[in-house]
This record gives sequence, structure tokens and C-alpha cells, in this order.
Amino acid sequence: MKHQKPWQNLRLRLVAWYSLLTGLSMLISDGFMYLEFRQTLLDQIDNALEVTAIQALKNLDDEVDALMFDPRQDGPVLTSLLNTAGVEIYLLGQDGSVKEHFGDSLTLPTQQGLQPGFESLITENERWRIYTQEILPRDDRPGGWLKVARSLQPVDITLQNLLNQHLLKLPLLLSMVGLGGIFLANRALKPIDQVTRMAEQVRVSGDLTQRIHYQGTTDDELERLATMFDEMLDSLQATFEYEKRFTADASHELRTPLTALKGRLHVVLNQPRTADVYEETLRAIEQEVDRLIRLSSDLLLLSQLEQRHQDMHLEPIDLSDLLAAIAEQIQPLADLQQLQLSTHIAPDLKIHGSPDHLIRLFLNLLDNAVKHTLALGQVSLTADVQGHCIQVRVSDTGIGISPDHLPHLFERFYRVEKSRSRTIGGTGLGLAIAQEIVHRHHGTISVQSQPGRGTTFTVTFQQYSHR
Ligand code: ADP
Repeated sequence: MKHQKPWQNLRLRLVAWYSLLTGLSMLISDGFMYLEFRQTLLDQIDNALEVTAIQALKNLDDEVDALMFDPRQDGPVLTSLLNTAGVEIYLLGQDGSVKEHFGDSLTLPTQQGLQPGFESLITENERWRIYTQEILPRDDRPGGWLKVARSLQPVDITLQNLLNQHLLKLPLLLSMVGLGGIFLANRALKPIDQVTRMAEQVRVSGDLTQRIHYQGTTDDELERLATMFDEMLDSLQATFEYEKRFTADASHELRTPLTALKGRLHVVLNQPRTADVYEETLRAIEQEVDRLIRLSSDLLLLSQLEQRHQDMHLEPIDLSDLLAAIAEQIQPLADLQQLQLSTHIAPDLKIHGSPDHLIRLFLNLLDNAVKHTLALGQVSLTADVQGHCIQVRVSDTGIGISPDHLPHLFERFYRVEKSRSRTIGGTGLGLAIAQEIVHRHHGTISVQSQPGRGTTFTVTFQQYSHR
């Protein structure tokens, strides 16, 4: 077997794709969750900053003409605000100069912008969220700015933990998905494995009797593949056995006359003979050779007819005219045998057919009828429409065929009376060829016979209509 590179292995590729896609979808969905969670945390911080700012502004001293927190209120409210870890409060003048500062973790850069709203600030080791609000002047008190800052460290720690957890979980989940993928791919590809192994076995051993017999639970594509493979082996085996039998039969049939020829030649050449004896022998040999030629051309025709993948060229033809011409052709033979040949052919019987093959078919049936009917007997050719079909019957009042022979009559080289048939020149292929011709015309052929009373062959075709 050809050596496969890893990526040429369908199972491996399926698992890789499966894991990649699952990993990607996990990353995307976790990524979204992470971003959403982060935004929620930041929103919470912003809300808390706004609340802190509102509470801090309530502590401004309105009774002095400077911007400062009321020292009397510098009690419970502010203290509780400042006790909240990581909160810084700045009271700035209109020029941005720091008037008051609570908290000891953050020192605002001197060039701090004075824009109302939220901003983020990154110091050496921490991230901060800052909310700036303008303080409008009131009575004697000048205006200024309030800045409330809060460390983002707790948020960052929470987010980092979350990220770590996900990163730890990912390889674990991916390996579970990979294992699941291998299991699924194995299950799904089992029939393919079986087909491959079987094809290999058949190739190595040449044994066409092996089958997969795949027993699946669902009628899926792969099971159908396995079944199709079995069916293909069935038909290969049938064809192979047919060919084998055909070759054996054909060589046997060719051997018999060749041996007879050899015998005759041997006898005559044994000692000097008169001219008459030589002539007689040569004539007998000519007859045998003629028979051999007939046999080989019949064999050729039969093997051509049996190549079903080659379509036979069918054309619209008038069967009535064709049958009348055939009857005319057989008439001298019937006269010779002192037989009465009668025809009952309905006019305008149209079918799709191959004229040469049809002539061969009906000549053969009529020739058989004439050959197997004793003098003063009758042979008739009838053709008419029966329902949607056209039926042609060739009947005789001849010797008939016993029921034991009827089932085998259309087999190659089957002869009812072996020696007799040979002496009257039959190759034993006539009816096999006739049946093939009928089948290639999508028709049927059947036989009824009573020993001593006669035989009828019935051929049925589909009627041809111009639609
Ligand atoms: P063959 O070339 O030997 O005639 P066929 O295939 O045409 O071979 O026929 C097979 C056998 O069927 C013949 O050997 C013959 O005995 C028998 N047979 C065919 N047609 C008739 C018939 N009309 N009446 C009696 N026997 C027949």
C-alpha cells in the first residue's frame, strides 16, 4: 500500500478540523464573555465614582470664600468614603492646583487635564479610573474641580484570574474534544476502512467471493458505500464466472470438431488413397470447417451482444414488412421439407429495433421450427398487437421439446439431442443469441412445447409510437 503522509490521513484531518473549529468557537465565545464581564466591572467602577463624587460634593464648605471641604463634616461621611480602599479625592482650583487631597496612593501628574468625565490613567504599577466634575462658584465660594480616582487593581486581578482559568481550561477541553473527534471519526470511517481492507484482500488474493456485509444502524452514505461495494463484487463475480464458463464452453465446442478433423486427416494420410477417397475426405473436412466458421462467428456475435454497456443502435422500423420478407426467405426451405408455412402478420407493426439483428432472430426461430418438424407438418408465423405490446409467435407441429429441457433451452451450447443437433448443423448458440437480441430490444422471449405436438416461441416487444 502507498505510504501516507499524516495530512493525507482523512481521520487525522477530520479530528484536526473538528478540534480547530471547536477551539476557535470556544475562544470566540469566551472572548466575548470576558469583554462583557470586563465592561460590566468598569461600569460598576464608574457608577461608584459618580456616587463618591456626589457624596464628596455634599461635604464642601459653603460658608467660607475658599474651596475646601467643611472641616466640621470631615467626619463620618468623608472618612467612610476614604476608608474605601483605593479611593482618592482631589479638590482642585480653577487653574488645576491641588487644594485638598485625600488618600495616599495616587499622586496626580501636575499637567492633569481638566475635562469633565471619565478617563483612565496608568501609573508605574497600577491602572486608575478617574472621574472629573466641575464645581461651579457659589455665593463667595470660587469654582474649581473635583477629581475622584479609584484603583483598577482589584478589577485587573479578577480579570487576570478569569483569564488564567480559561487558559488552563482550554487545553483540557481541547484534548477532550480531540478524543471525542477521534472516537467519532473512527465510528464514521469504519465502513471505509472495511471497504479498503476488503479491496486490498480482493486485490491480493483475487478471491471475488469475499464481502463486507456491513451491519450499520443507520442507512447513511458510508453504509451505502459498503453495500454498493458488495453489490459491485457480486456483479464482478458473476461476470467473471460467466466469462470463465464461456471460455470453457467455447474451447470445448471448438475442440470437438477439431479433434474430428484431426482423426479424419490421420486416417486418410495413414496410407496412400485413391483420388475419390481424398475428394470425399476433403469435402467432409470442408463441411467441418464451415461449421467451425459458423461457430466462431456465432461466438463473436454472442459476446458482442452480451456487452451491455455498448448500446445497440435501434431505429424505428416496420416489423410487418420485415417479417414478411423473412417468411419469403424461409419459404424454399419449408418447401424442401414439404412443410406448410403460413403467415398471419398484422399490418403497420412499428418497433424500435436493429433490422439485422431482428432478421437473425426470426430466421433462427423459423429455421429451428422447420428443422424440427417432420414432412407434411405446419409452421406458422403470427404477429399482432396485444395490449400495449407487439407479439410475434413462431409455431410448429414438430417433434416438440420435453419439459425437462425447456428451462435450459436458452443457455449457450444447450442441445436437446446432442448428436442429432450437431448433425443438422446447429451450434447450440442459436437460442442464446435469440434471447440476447430480444433483451437488447427490451423485449421478452418464451417457449411453450408439447413433445410430439409442437412448439411455439413467443417474442414480445414494446410498441413504438411517435409521441
Ligand atoms: P441449435 O443451433 O443447435 O439449433 P439452438 O440454440 O437454436 O441450437 O436450439 C437449442 C436446442 O433447442 C436445439 O438443439 C433443439 O433441440 C431445440 N429446439 C429449438 N427449436 C426447436 C423447435 N422448434 N422444436 C423442437 N426443438 C427445438
